[in-house]
Amino acid sequence: MKNPKVRIYIRVKLPDGSQPFLDPVWSANRQIKKGWAIIDGTPKHFPGAVYYLRYAREGKRVWERLTDDPEQALAAKQKLDVFHAAVSVDLIQRNVPAPIATATPAPTPAAAQPAASTSAEDSPALKLTGAVDRYKEFLSLANKAPKTRTAYETAIDTFVKQCGDKAISDVTAHDLLRFADHLRKRPNSDRTVANKINYICTFLAHFACDKVMPYEQRPRFVPKEPDAYTQEELAALFAACAPEERFLFQFFLATGFRDQEAAFATWRDVKFDAKEITVRAKKHLGFTPKDHEERTAPLPDALLDSLRARRRERPDSLFILGNGQKPSRHMLRILKRAALRAKLNCGECLTKAKKSCRTHAVCGYWELHKFRRTYATIQHEAGVSAPTLQKRLGHSDLETTLRYLAIAERRSKEAHDKVNLAFGPLLTASVAAESQLGGCGMTRHDEVHKLPRIARYTTESPGIPARAFSHSVSGPSIPKEPEQGVEQEIAPEPPPDGRQHQLGADNP
Ligand SMILES: [Zn+2]
Repeated sequence: MKNPKVRIYIRVKLPDGSQPFLDPVWSANRQIKKGWAIIDGTPKHFPGAVYYLRYAREGKRVWERLTDDPEQALAAKQKLDVFHAAVSVDLIQRNVPAPIATATPAPTPAAAQPAASTSAEDSPALKLTGAVDRYKEFLSLANKAPKTRTAYETAIDTFVKQCGDKAISDVTAHDLLRFADHLRKRPNSDRTVANKINYICTFLAHFACDKVMPYEQRPRFVPKEPDAYTQEELAALFAACAPEERFLFQFFLATGFRDQEAAFATWRDVKFDAKEITVRAKKHLGFTPKDHEERTAPLPDALLDSLRARRRERPDSLFILGNGQKPSRHMLRILKRAALRAKLNCGECLTKAKKSCRTHAVCGYWELHKFRRTYATIQHEAGVSAPTLQKRLGHSDLETTLRYLAIAERRSKEAHDKVNLAFGPLLTASVAAESQLGGCGMTRHDEVHKLPRIARYTTESPGIPARAFSHSVSGPSIPKEPEQGVEQEIAPEPPPDGRQHQLGADNP
């Protein structure tokens, strides 16, 4: 049985007196941005707006009023999700009504209570190790993706090891800060530290200890600016590829699939006559689509032609990519190698093992997920609307899609015309003045135009990334040493609290 959806809404008051229920704004790390709602496709701040939960209780739709605290809304939703998860695996009889999210535990017989929903108040002496066991059981019952479970379990195990086996109600903000410090020294990036602290807070909130560290006080990280490949980069990459590699990258580009969706794509998912492809659940193969939602998107003729040819060559294959017999697991490595061969690496990355992307296939700029953002950018430029793209990408909230589309907007002709209008006369005037003065400073300007537009750095001048030139029109360009290592990170996972709306920031 599919779990009934429990959804969080925010109710806002508009100037015309109406009070609609809107989607809340989710932040990059799957928290709710307090007081923000999506209205007409745009995020807007409504201070003091109150959250509501919508779910089914005894066959009827219920709107439950909460407070203006998004953390409480998430905890309440989680509680209902646990209940539904337990019902779905027959731990609770199907005719037992759903509990009221904000009320104290429902008066169901003790044996029927899902173990994980016990609050700290019920058992004040609940120790961390005991809580960890129950939480792991919850993650398993709620059928969370293996990657999500591992991420949470690892973080929680490390935290308990650090903190000692105290009562869960005795955990303080100080314990969390010490854990963050421990993680930083490992060393972990700011993003990883922030994610792990959020995992611990979600775990604590599960046992009603949701006030330990308010969201505003948690460690922060600078979210990456969403980026997409440019047409020149793609052309240069494809030119350096073997046919098999080119097919792989063109598949990613023209489907906008997430890594796992592509790896598990089978021939049955393609409808050649309807010219479309479906992301389909394949439980027998161990694949469930994100948010448990299937979706279908149109395919361009060029990819359909390549797919037809491939199908003919490999009539016995099950999967479209890789060797056709097993889901492909080396796609990222193939991309990094092709980028190195095409001399498209950025020249700045340095791994923990001190490998530079100038000589190794480790460039952080090249990632499979960027094809997905490029897919959205290209289509938005071609006039496909945001809600249509949201469906094609399988985003459960428009906010994530809009973050992708900001790339197309900032690269648009309109945006470019505006900066030209703003700076053009000023910059042209200074160049004209320089040439009148007799050439001083012109060398650098000429050099900029002589540089190849694509190659980021060349092996002939290993010390000077070409990028350094292209950024600096005036003044000498000093080659910079890479300052810090770039580590491969696991994309953040949504908290396992049943918020099955969408992926974390990096993997939407
Ligand atoms: Zn790099």
